[in-house]
Amino acid sequence: MKKQIVNQKSPSFVQPPVVVVLGHVDHGKTSLLDKIRKTNLVAREAGGITQHIGAFQVEIKQKDQTKAKITFLDTPGHASFGKMRSRGAQVADLAVLVVAANDGVKEQTRESLKYIKEAGLDFLVALNKIDLPNIYLDNVKKGLSESGIEIEEYGGSVVVVPVSAKTGVGIDDLLEMILLMSQLKDWPDGLSQPLEAVVIESRLDHHCGNVATVLVRQGKLSVNDEVVVDNRPFKVKALLDENRRPLKQVCPGQAAEVLGFTSLPLVGTKVLSKNSSVENRTSTSTPCQFLTNEEEQAKDACFKAILKTDTQGTLEAIANQLPASCALLKKEVGEVSDSDVLEAAACNLEILAFNLKLRNSVQKLAETEGVHISSYKTIYELVESVEKRIEKILSPEPEKQILGKAEVLAEFVVNKNDRIAGCRATEGLINRANRVIVERKGELIGESRVASLRLGKEIVDKVEAGKEFGLQFTKIIDFNVGDMILSVK
Ligand code: GDP
Repeated sequence: MKKQIVNQKSPSFVQPPVVVVLGHVDHGKTSLLDKIRKTNLVAREAGGITQHIGAFQVEIKQKDQTKAKITFLDTPGHASFGKMRSRGAQVADLAVLVVAANDGVKEQTRESLKYIKEAGLDFLVALNKIDLPNIYLDNVKKGLSESGIEIEEYGGSVVVVPVSAKTGVGIDDLLEMILLMSQLKDWPDGLSQPLEAVVIESRLDHHCGNVATVLVRQGKLSVNDEVVVDNRPFKVKALLDENRRPLKQVCPGQAAEVLGFTSLPLVGTKVLSKNSSVENRTSTSTPCQFLTNEEEQAKDACFKAILKTDTQGTLEAIANQLPASCALLKKEVGEVSDSDVLEAAACNLEILAFNLKLRNSVQKLAETEGVHISSYKTIYELVESVEKRIEKILSPEPEKQILGKAEVLAEFVVNKNDRIAGCRATEGLINRANRVIVERKGELIGESRVASLRLGKEIVDKVEAGKEFGLQFTKIIDFNVGDMILSVK
């Protein structure tokens, strides 16, 4: 019954399962990952600091004394899966659904379950916080079953493992169960397939340039490989593990930091071999999959949003009144949900909420995900606000033209609210008719009109480069000696 996942063509290679940890906020996802990482990390530099690269590997000694590896995606929860899902990337093989035993099934538990089912992932439940007093596991299990999770004890197939991320109790059982589930899975021969890897994190590093963590799903990724990401070719300059040690090659189920990208790739983008077919390559980037029906309409729009309203009537009325340059990539009756926020975050959308109360948890999630939700009570107010924003997008402030520059050499105090800047014009013309900007080390200090320009005692309209002059502003500007004054149009 127990299947060995030893690769037929490369008997020494056993593909580690890639595991994502999901569940309701505060149920202990981060704590569980931390505990697993601290107690089982494969390769830790003596005294060294392992850094977060988006995934880590643990090695477990099994009962038969053989060792096996598991790769965990270490950004738990909705934030990561929202981004991946939006780009159609399937990164995990298994999911651990964390449910706090003192709290039971909550909204994000149900959301996570929905995602697990949509992604077709095998999963198990980690019933966490069992160290707390007054925990009645039977009650929690009943709750799981009532929420549609077919747990083993009730005749289903979903394994429930009681754990405590705090004390570590049950974690070995959890890891053992993950390996067992992985061994029962039907694994393809990943090593001999053409390369397919997914970007799970990317960042701009001051020393190394564009760096991305890539998780290999099939095939091998080696240093000097010629690969493509989003149809852009690049050569793998280096592969690093989470201790920043160089690797020569990365195999399926393993993640590594990759150096050499010509531009910063988006999370969820696929990395393929340069020789893979064009067909395969062009299908790699699927932005906002869940919005495909509306994508055509959205192409030319400059303002994209999700609209949620209280009734069907207001939904239609608002949708009809919004200008054509506003694309509603989703419009629905009902309260703003976590998944609305995640979809908005993944696709850079704003959420327009009409006559709805926002739940605190949704507001909190929007803050963490950087999603702007604006609430309105009248249709007029909503439409006007969208129109104003579109106007702003379409007619951004024109760039200022610099006509002349001067340096502040001294200040002359006339009275408390009136100071004259003693300046030397360094470039172009300082013109009384034009506005001036005061900058300190490139930072804007203030902007004003010119009340007067003096060359010695003489009042003038303009001053040429090389001349020293006195300048009085029409408003109070907090200038210092050394500041630059720019005459602008
Ligand atoms: P996340 O939002 O799901 O990542 O949850 P965290 O890992 O941040 O945990 C939320 C809170 O629950 C923190 O205060 C943790 O210390 C606490 N916590 C997590 N796991 C356990 C556990 O097994 N037992 C107890 N008593 N507290 C836990």
